[in-house]
Amino acid sequence: MYEADSLEELCEILGDCQRCPLSQARTRIVYGAGNPDAELMFVGEAPGRAEDAQGLPFVGPAGRLLDDLLASVGLARDEVYITNVIKCRPPGNRDPLPLEVETCNPFLAGQIALIKPKIICELGRIAAGIMMGRQIQITRIHGQKFLGRGYLNVPVFHPAAALRTPATAELLRQDFVNLKSYLEEDEPPPPAPEPEPEQMGLF
Ligand code: URA
Repeated sequence: MYEADSLEELCEILGDCQRCPLSQARTRIVYGAGNPDAELMFVGEAPGRAEDAQGLPFVGPAGRLLDDLLASVGLARDEVYITNVIKCRPPGNRDPLPLEVETCNPFLAGQIALIKPKIICELGRIAAGIMMGRQIQITRIHGQKFLGRGYLNVPVFHPAAALRTPATAELLRQDFVNLKSYLEEDEPPPPAPEPEPEQMGLF
């Protein structure tokens, strides 16, 4: 993890990052955006086409659904913080490679350490698997809370999956209702223990 006193300072350390080959194909780095004191932090997988063009997370169709889901539980985008596991768009939106995840990890870990959210919500199977350090079945664990590395983690379906499948959209809406109730709990009851990782986690 890089030592920084603020998200801005960490972003300066990231600079015009050339640490992995994704830098060759990207248009813009998508560092993250939102409230530096957010109680709720979203971690997606990787920037897509719209994000790569604008340098901001979740600004395409999936982002519009995310805004709608937030509004449905009385939250606004500027109250939360949104970032991705990797900060540059993989060509053709393929899954992030281990080297890319590893290279970006100190920045994601730094963002989490600076924000200290009450809840980290992983958007989609890939982000949840990377954050939890093991293969997961999002259909089985979505909307539940897991204590991992000092944070409550709540993996949910990816909004892009909900755009493709109405039944998934319904489940995702319910997950956001759960998220809101977890945020409102003063002393959350002990969350389900994380099953033994099959590989080392990232944090
Ligand atoms: N999908 C993601 O996982 N992240 C984004 O920023 C946009 C789409």
